[in-house]
Amino acid sequence: MSLKTQITLRTAVVLPFVMIFLFTMGVMVFTQKQSYKEMVSDISARQLASLTDNVHQSLSDFLEKPFHANLSLSHNIGYHKLYEPGNLSKVQDYILYKFSDHFTAVPQLDVIGFGSEDGNYVGFRKEANNGYTLMVQDERTQDQLVIYRGSKISEDIRSVISGYDPRVRPWYTPVANEKKAVWSPIYANADERQEITLSALAPIYADNEFKAVIVSDIKINTFNAFLKNLKDKTDASVYIIDQQQRLVAHSGGGSVVSWGTGKTHKGQRLLATESANPVIRESANYVDQLHLIDDIGVQRFKFTLDGEQYFNQITPYEDKHGLTWFIGMSIPESNLLGELPKNQRDSWLLGLTLSCIGIIAGLIAFNRVTQPITSTADAAKQLAKGDWDSSMPKSGNIYETSMLVEAFNEMANNLKASFQQLQSQLTYDSLTKLYSREGFIDAAQKNAATEKGTLYLVGIDRFRDINDSLGHYNGDQLLIISAARLRGTLPSDYLLARTGGDEFAIYAPNVTQEEDVQLLANRLVQTFASPFAMESESVVVKVSIGVVHVSNDQDITSWLRNSSIALSNAKQDKTRVSIYSPEMGNASRHRTKMLARLNKAIELQQFEPFYQPIIDLESGTTIGAEALARWVTDEGIISPLEFIPLAEETGLIYDIGKQILHKSCRDTAIAIESGKWSEDFSIHVNLSVDQLSERGFIGLVKNTLSDTKLPPKNLTLEITESRIIDNDPTIIENMLTLKALGISIAIDDFGTGYSSLAYLHKLPFDCLKIDRSFVSKLDKENLDSSIVAAIVNITKGFKVSLVAEGVETQQQADLLKQLQCPQAQGFLYSRPVPFDQWPTDLSNAQQNAKTKQNTEAKESIS
Ligand code: C2E
Ligand code: CA
Ligand code: CA
Repeated sequence: MSLKTQITLRTAVVLPFVMIFLFTMGVMVFTQKQSYKEMVSDISARQLASLTDNVHQSLSDFLEKPFHANLSLSHNIGYHKLYEPGNLSKVQDYILYKFSDHFTAVPQLDVIGFGSEDGNYVGFRKEANNGYTLMVQDERTQDQLVIYRGSKISEDIRSVISGYDPRVRPWYTPVANEKKAVWSPIYANADERQEITLSALAPIYADNEFKAVIVSDIKINTFNAFLKNLKDKTDASVYIIDQQQRLVAHSGGGSVVSWGTGKTHKGQRLLATESANPVIRESANYVDQLHLIDDIGVQRFKFTLDGEQYFNQITPYEDKHGLTWFIGMSIPESNLLGELPKNQRDSWLLGLTLSCIGIIAGLIAFNRVTQPITSTADAAKQLAKGDWDSSMPKSGNIYETSMLVEAFNEMANNLKASFQQLQSQLTYDSLTKLYSREGFIDAAQKNAATEKGTLYLVGIDRFRDINDSLGHYNGDQLLIISAARLRGTLPSDYLLARTGGDEFAIYAPNVTQEEDVQLLANRLVQTFASPFAMESESVVVKVSIGVVHVSNDQDITSWLRNSSIALSNAKQDKTRVSIYSPEMGNASRHRTKMLARLNKAIELQQFEPFYQPIIDLESGTTIGAEALARWVTDEGIISPLEFIPLAEETGLIYDIGKQILHKSCRDTAIAIESGKWSEDFSIHVNLSVDQLSERGFIGLVKNTLSDTKLPPKNLTLEITESRIIDNDPTIIENMLTLKALGISIAIDDFGTGYSSLAYLHKLPFDCLKIDRSFVSKLDKENLDSSIVAAIVNITKGFKVSLVAEGVETQQQADLLKQLQCPQAQGFLYSRPVPFDQWPTDLSNAQQNAKTKQNTEAKESIS
């Protein structure tokens, strides 16, 4: 997998989708909000304007009517000359008449009074029961202010106040000064109701002379009720303030006069910023801080209180009779648009929910679409891990993914089939249909992990030779028949395998007793006892068996290795059946080590020929030499007896032989060239049959001769008699070819092999070497009946030379001479020596030998 971060198919498709959705939602919400804001400010402005207009209109109505009433009173009193100094009874009647008959439509009128230049006063107060109470101060009341319970002068007096002077009242002076109808300043009544009062004032003239003031008190509280009512209907908070920002009226309920708790004194009018109503208070604060009443015209502003947004307008209210007030209006946002914001929120919520449902539905649908792809990817991953049993993906309903999934499944099935085929190829031997080595290990692991038993490894002796001589086809047939025989004789619960070219492994569960083990081994030997009928001829084979007692403390590969060691042992010792013991393992380990060293030695060219002279018995001259391999190591010289058998077994003999052959030929060529050895000197080089049966061997010999410039006539190749197997066409062929090249062939260790003398004539050879064992057995008495004598006689007919090996004593040499054996070789003349230690005076070898013998004899005598 690359280092790039990877995202899933699902993310790749869903992410942009969700992003686009979120972006669209965002833009929508933004524009909505924007247009909502505009709409809100638009609507608030209109609403504020219309409500303020309403208030403005009502307020001017509220003030205008009493003002006009008062004006008409002043006009009529003056016009009809109702004022008579000292007695106010005409004015009294007129006021009562107007108050109770004409001004019923002006309910805000509270008190209508009349104060004259000469300090008299008459007035009526409207009571809660719609009655009127009379207040008089003139001659009739002896210039005292008398307040009656009724509307006439009677005995029913509520109270009498002396020293009352209307001319010092706050309603009198403005008119007295200005001589025109005006509003009084607002003032709080001194009574218990703490009501604030505004009075319409008008002057009264008689004969163009200012005579009196008519005053109509207005209870502003009634306007509070109007505002309260408006607030209940529209939720708009309204307040009216004067230029000092003191409350005139408001919709907040409660008094506009201080009860003495705040900064203001008891009875003083409250500032709007001191209102008990938080909205009004907040709005008034804004007005105060921003000095909005100093500016002319309508001002708008907004603020937020307790999470609610309020839109405000402050509007000046002026009338021509000297009032300068301001109408403050504050409406909450929620009120402006009614249910709209909530509905909008609801619809957004609904939209969001629907979109979420849509996305989820989309995801589910998309999942269904990608499910086959995802599960295919998973299955592919499983396959890559080697899990062949994982479930296969199912194709969905979409054409392309179905194609993909089907193609994948087909591919996976093909892979599975090839894998199974491969597995069975690994598990079973294709030739015999028995288990292969791997299959055997597998089956044994499954089968016999816990139980005890015995493992037999059966090897066919010299199968390679059989293969070579009968051909591979017949070799295969032999193996097939062998497998069939084993199958036929062994119980079905025994595991059977061909673990190597000519090796069969048998695992016998529960065979543990000594006799049973032996019995089964014998039976296996018997299985191979009868001849194998091939196409042309029938073949007898022998088998060797390695046996291992199996316990579960070791694994199967160890059993197999041990059985192989036991089998090698059986073959080496020719015991047929060998039961594994740990010592064999040691020997085998030694072998393994040795093998490694041999390989290294080949690389380092550590193999050297030592030369042992071959003597002409008649003349005593050296006519040749045998090259004998030595392994020259730093630790010393190792004998061929120690490494040749292993080298032959493992095929390394070919390389070792190559080194010996090359060095021998080179040494000989040099020796002949330098005159050290004679022109017809014969160098004997030992050969393994394995070398001879190698296809490239002839080429190797030719190259060696031409490389070293040694003439072929100087070379003799020695082949051990017992190793030349009958009928091998390659060996005989090669021997013939070598001969044809001019090279001589010697049969080594003659007499020890099993080939009969009768067979000898089939072999192409030039020289026989009589084995040392026959030479050592020579004695004077039975000389003529000795094997050496027989060999000499037989070979008289052949034109071959004879060499007697292992001549150690002069006596042996003499007897050989007597038997007319022509040549000899042995320690008597010289041990094998390195080339540079070759004695220079070997021509006199016999002479030397004689002298040596005599010396030894003398020594022994003495
Ligand atoms: P061989 O070919 O029969 O060689 C003769 C062996 O007898 C040599 O032993 C030699 O040292 C020994 N011998 C010679 N004279 C006497 C004697 O008077 N008395 C006794 N007791 N022994 C004597 P070596 O060198 O240890 O070789 C043993 C065998 O190793 C050889 O037997 C030969 O079969 C094999 N061999 C040696 N060199 C080679 C080689 O280069 N190639 C192959 N394939 N085999 C070799
Ligand atoms: Ca030899
Ligand atoms: Ca020999």
